[in-house]
Amino acid sequence: MNKADSERIANALEGLGLVPVENKEAADVIVINSCSVRQSAEERVLSRLGALKTIKKERSDLVVALAGCMVGSNTSDLRQKLPFVDVFLKPLEVDDLLRLVLDRKPGVGDAAALASSSTSEVGFEKVEHGEECGEEMSPQNDELSPVRWVPIIYGCDNFCSYCIVPFRRGRERSRPPQEIVEEVRRLVASGAREVTLLGQNVDSYGHDLADRPDLGDLLELVNGVAGLHRVRFLTSHPKDMSEKLIDTVARLPKVCEYVNLPVQSGDDGILRAMKRGYAVDEYRALANRIRRGIPNVSLTTDLIVGFPGETREQFENSYRLLEELRFDVVHVAAYSPRPGTAAARLADDVPPEEKKRRLQQVEALQERIAAENAKAMLDTIVEVLVEGKKKGKWQGRTRTNKLVFFKDDRPWLGKLASVRVDKASAWSSQGTVIN
Ligand code: SAM
Ligand code: SF4
Repeated sequence: MNKADSERIANALEGLGLVPVENKEAADVIVINSCSVRQSAEERVLSRLGALKTIKKERSDLVVALAGCMVGSNTSDLRQKLPFVDVFLKPLEVDDLLRLVLDRKPGVGDAAALASSSTSEVGFEKVEHGEECGEEMSPQNDELSPVRWVPIIYGCDNFCSYCIVPFRRGRERSRPPQEIVEEVRRLVASGAREVTLLGQNVDSYGHDLADRPDLGDLLELVNGVAGLHRVRFLTSHPKDMSEKLIDTVARLPKVCEYVNLPVQSGDDGILRAMKRGYAVDEYRALANRIRRGIPNVSLTTDLIVGFPGETREQFENSYRLLEELRFDVVHVAAYSPRPGTAAARLADDVPPEEKKRRLQQVEALQERIAAENAKAMLDTIVEVLVEGKKKGKWQGRTRTNKLVFFKDDRPWLGKLASVRVDKASAWSSQGTVIN
């Protein structure tokens, strides 16, 4: 979601005539798009901002902006702590930055440019919610990238007890299907071949719109966009994933066999305390239904270790579930108390070193499972959408989102290559192109 937001901020600035540069010393405008999902993410943002303070001292004309989830409704604390930051932008807001750039850099554009570059025109909504994820804006996902992100639903209504997202990104607001399809058409016209439809909970897409379209209906429309090769969606919530969606993914040719289904814990007591709305058995049954319904699907998950009160035994329930379900990827995080959330009122009683131990145990298990799963790819032929070049090799992903590298002199960017897998590890594969 943050990558998508960063891309939109970049598009808005490019609309004023600015161009991306290679390093911060050469920049006239620097935007840090922040994440607040864990304390460690906020700390990284603060350390990057610290480095900018020195540059700003020498160059008062530099515009520094802090965007994203670290920016709440009340910015007075941030302003006090970070006086060298020129402008603070809540998620999905960009207009204050554009105005400031026009003010400070008279050469770059005019009011007409502002009008055509501002919020709604670059795919941001006009936000009215009163409340309040990190990375430096990067030109990586630029116009030439065949892989793009398209937000379809903003915010989240779930209020999982540990999560700050609903407080910073507000309640769920779906974008109308036609607006999304138009955006996908525009992206295809500028080189996109794959889009990922984004939301904190994409399965609840459309419940707030007239006619109540759902994610299956939207996938059907996006699948029909000419010139597009692939569609993905992220993230699903186990309590909301429907049979219809599973059937739709299996049926539509462009929709990839890839489902990220965060479990968060493999223990019923912890799931209740997290307010996730499902039990382990329900999750297990759903995962098995997805695997039966979508042949060769890749299933990935998210897990938190060290939630308040999590005993060693409860952690082992999570560990055993991972062993049983053998996900392709597990995004594991140590619990981090977030201000204002329900869980922040509970004692953060799993010691940091124990959280780290649990985290490392999951990482080691998952590395083994991912390597074993990857072996199934050996000597098979996979379809790779080529995203770019790294160290002289073409790099792309399979429909199941696995990273594959191959060497070839022909121009492959944005094309589908058939690749025979010669080597497969937990993180990536190497192969030979055969078409
Ligand atoms: N909406 C998705 C879901 O239902 O799981 C996930 C979105 S959340 C922004 C991304 C991931 O951050 C979560 O899956 C969770 O594992 C992690 N996360 C969120 N809050 C956290 C916290 N307080 N401490 C540690 N990890 C957290
Ligand atoms: Fe956070 Fe839960 Fe919403 Fe995911 S579903 S964004 S974890 S509140």
